[in-house]
Amino acid sequence: MSVPITGHTGLLCLLGSPVEHSISPAMHNEACDQLGLDYKYLAFDVPEEEMPAAVEGLKRMHARGWNITMPGKNIMCKLADEVSPASEITGACNTIVNDNGRLTAYTTDGIGFMRAVEENGVEIIGKNMTLLGAGGAASAILVQAALDGLNQIDVFNVRDAFFPRLEEIAAKLNERTKCKVIVHDFDHPEELAEAIKNSSILVNGTSVGMAPNTDATLITDTSLLRPDLFVFDVIYNPQETKLLKDARQAGCKTANGMYMLLYQGAASFKLWTGQDMPVEIIKEKYFSN
Ligand code: NAD
Repeated sequence: MSVPITGHTGLLCLLGSPVEHSISPAMHNEACDQLGLDYKYLAFDVPEEEMPAAVEGLKRMHARGWNITMPGKNIMCKLADEVSPASEITGACNTIVNDNGRLTAYTTDGIGFMRAVEENGVEIIGKNMTLLGAGGAASAILVQAALDGLNQIDVFNVRDAFFPRLEEIAAKLNERTKCKVIVHDFDHPEELAEAIKNSSILVNGTSVGMAPNTDATLITDTSLLRPDLFVFDVIYNPQETKLLKDARQAGCKTANGMYMLLYQGAASFKLWTGQDMPVEIIKEKYFSN
């Protein structure tokens, strides 16, 4: 039941640029309506340099919390009073909780990933993972998976601007967790083959394969895709990337990034409201084919 907007209605929102494509307003407003919660969730197009002013305004207006998408994920961590362990390691966040003017930063993408994997009936705690990528999505996955207790994570990235930051994150995780994180240059196919051979899960955390370049895949040697390997792609457009198609044809269990997106939202919602998002309803309305 939708609660009418009154003088009591609380504000939740998304900050970033662009934001108009985001599914977050639909997902969070539906969840509030279903639970009869007196919040409304809006999306505001805010460039990075305007984030400090926007945050100051939201604090003064007592907004309960907000999500942050690019390009504000790093600066938002610096504007928070406290940061979660995962956000501290990556220096990025996608969720702020405002407790009477005190801001806490969290990153829920990795939480969303772990829950999406679990929902596929795949157990990865204590196992090995091969992760492709070192950008926003891949870093969040890397940190949460290490904190949650994977045994070993082999991360591959091309030597682009993300690489030095990946090495820093890996060093922190090797110091602070029991998970062994090994960073590889993507240009070493024999290391990639060996890592996948020893992994239960292969994750594409890069944008390679995303529309419109749907014929692209980082795994060109499909003999690496064996039937007992779970293959996860963070991409949700297209719903089946070339990698996932190749993996399915090789007999692997596969999953795309849709439920990671859903469950990162559910984790943010829980932080703001203390309530569980009614995910089955949200799935049916916004995440079914
Ligand atoms: P990003 O720009 O932060 O990172 C891009 C990554 O792709 C880097 O690791 C980069 O090295 C790699 N890359 C790009 N082009 C490459 C190439 N030609 N060869 C090899 N590597 C290449 O992007 P991001 O925010 O991490 O997003 C990555 C993908 O994840 C996007 O498709 C995005 O839609 C998706 N995503 C999904 C979710 C979800 O909840 N499912 C969340 C965030 C992002």
